[in-house]
Amino acid sequence: MNNNVIIIGGGPCGLEASAQLHQMGYNVILVEREPQLGGHLAKWDRLFPEGIKAKEVLDQLIANINGVKYFLNTEVKSINQLDKEYNVILSNGITILATAVLMASGFDLFPAEKKEEYGYGIYDKVITNADLENYFNTGKDRRITAAPKRIGFVHCVGSRDEKAGNRYCSKVCCATAVKQACEAKEAFPDAEVFCFYMDLRMFGRGYEDLYLRAQKEYGVRFIRGRVSEVAEDINSQLIVKAEDTLSGKPIKVTLDLLVLMAGMTNCQAGVKVANMLSLKKDDDGFFTCKDSILHLQQSDKKGIFYAGACTGPKTLPDTLHEARAAAIAIHNYFKERK
Ligand code: SF4
Repeated sequence: MNNNVIIIGGGPCGLEASAQLHQMGYNVILVEREPQLGGHLAKWDRLFPEGIKAKEVLDQLIANINGVKYFLNTEVKSINQLDKEYNVILSNGITILATAVLMASGFDLFPAEKKEEYGYGIYDKVITNADLENYFNTGKDRRITAAPKRIGFVHCVGSRDEKAGNRYCSKVCCATAVKQACEAKEAFPDAEVFCFYMDLRMFGRGYEDLYLRAQKEYGVRFIRGRVSEVAEDINSQLIVKAEDTLSGKPIKVTLDLLVLMAGMTNCQAGVKVANMLSLKKDDDGFFTCKDSILHLQQSDKKGIFYAGACTGPKTLPDTLHEARAAAIAIHNYFKERK
């Protein structure tokens, strides 16, 4: 039996699992299709609830994989189950026999342009959470030319939405919206900031404090209601219509910038690999774990493991915990086979 473990996905999940398995003495091969490691984290500015710099976290995760073999710009071309191992052919021409494979393929952001009524890709002043994060990170976005005076955030874009085909909650976007609303106030102190939400899911430690701070210190206004329509007037200002479900009254707000909180969907590149192995998916499109309490890291196929957002929306700490749990599950799998 060989000592090889292939990890698919070089985001925080794949990095953490690689570091743990490498420390345990396994021969880890990390495969990342992008030209750099880090996944979405590499494009993020600050993390809720404390506002830690994403780069600091990523630098640490990358430092921890010292000695791990990894391939960038590389995809899995084919993967076949043999008697006791998997034969994996990579797009760089390398073939690897691996005893275990970890799917750490993460998530894609919901394509906001699919919700046409919000106007992403139609109106310049409509951007996504990822666009705003990139703006905070780089200070650049061609759509933010002057300091906006009125900024709105729309929660649940492509999540909790039957029409979009996604009934589930994406878990992290309420906290992201509140964090970004505070940061928007810091970047544009004169701006009025509104959050349009269905209900707020601020479940984690420190998240409720962040929500209270957003109201008390930053003056963010929370409006309970779903946005029904976004249009642009002749001055290129956005007209946002919503129903305030607390007062029961329709409201109309004029904004200079609207930020859509795009939710999480399973990563399509990961799904492509999973399809080669006929791995099961749930109705929500995420991979099916062996069970949802005791065996979250196991798939229905021997030697194939899961960690992170490929089995459903996760926070970053949850993802890192799962990466460590997967490393232990893989270690136990090797022990059982000896
Ligand atoms: S975390 Fe909040 S914004 Fe995201 S889907 Fe759930 S309720 Fe909606």
